[in-house]
Amino acid sequence: MPSAREVIEIDGAQGEGGGQVLRSSLALSLCTGTPLRMHDIRARRRKPGLLRQHLTAVRAAAEISGARVQGDVLGSTALTFEPGAPRAGEYHFAIGTAGSVMLVLQTVLWPLLLAPGRSRLVLEGGTHNPMAPPFDFVVRSLAPLLRAMGAEIEVTLERAGFYPAGGGRIAVEIEGGRALVPIERLERGPLSTTARALVSGLPVSVARRELEVVHERLAWERRWLAVERVEAHGPGNVLLLELGHAAGTTVVAAFGERGVRAEAVAARAVEEVERFVAADVPIDEHLADQLLIPLALAGGGAFRTVAPSLHTQTNAEIVQRWLPVEIAFTDQGNGAHRIDVRPRAS
Ligand code: AMP
Repeated sequence: MPSAREVIEIDGAQGEGGGQVLRSSLALSLCTGTPLRMHDIRARRRKPGLLRQHLTAVRAAAEISGARVQGDVLGSTALTFEPGAPRAGEYHFAIGTAGSVMLVLQTVLWPLLLAPGRSRLVLEGGTHNPMAPPFDFVVRSLAPLLRAMGAEIEVTLERAGFYPAGGGRIAVEIEGGRALVPIERLERGPLSTTARALVSGLPVSVARRELEVVHERLAWERRWLAVERVEAHGPGNVLLLELGHAAGTTVVAAFGERGVRAEAVAARAVEEVERFVAADVPIDEHLADQLLIPLALAGGGAFRTVAPSLHTQTNAEIVQRWLPVEIAFTDQGNGAHRIDVRPRAS
């Protein structure tokens, strides 16, 4: 682990070059007490620099620890962050746009799991955003694995929020200070499958058409496919495919978009499920990148997953900059990959 006096310099353009490089670095700066200096923030994105969601993440990271920050303005591509010790407590972070609350949570969750005491967070913004973990993924897939590692966390949806209207709200209760223990998730076993198609302010026929594709292409039984109307500030649609198995629950999501037919939205989720099922692994592409920080904090662990995404590879590089672990990737053939997180031999 870096000594508390040194500064870790992170190139925001490295690897995937998006918001995750920033969020992981902020989280790990808080967890290790080591200052962060970052340049070229989100350099590989169409609109580089800090957008509202990233700025909220920076401010949230500062608030939970009394950090000193420079560069925390909209559009900023450089940041210095000198963390204080994370403190459990009651916090309210509102993004002010439909930016994803789950991504703000990704920033403060790890330090608050380590900080002794009870925290209650209220986060406002988007709860079901494309290119971010939807609420259902966090609750059904990520949180149970964190509990298996010893964490105490409850996440509740108070109101759904979709892009572009936003207005969603979640509450998160954390009992911090519990030691995280390594876990292994190597085998999957038989699957039980359910699907929900959520719609807000849109005809339920959109949801029905998506579920029809799930039934036809995956042969999932109709009685386990449900349409759900949700109350939100604006229109929205998400298809959530859930696969329960011995190692946990996998949640695959696809988001309705203006100008994209319901059948095409459903086809994206179906194809992701097909790849996941064919690889015969327990951990999906997104959970793979999100498990690296908790496993590294726990000092180890292993899982089998699909081909590592650029997000996963980049997060592995970032984690290894901050914590004394090595992360090894092994291609096992037939689309299956094993990822091992081990204490670094010094
Ligand atoms: P970034 O693109 O750098 O802002 O990072 C996006 C984060 O959201 C990564 O941790 C992804 O794994 C996660 N993510 C994106 N799409 C999904 C999804 N459908 N389900 C779960 N997590 C997702």
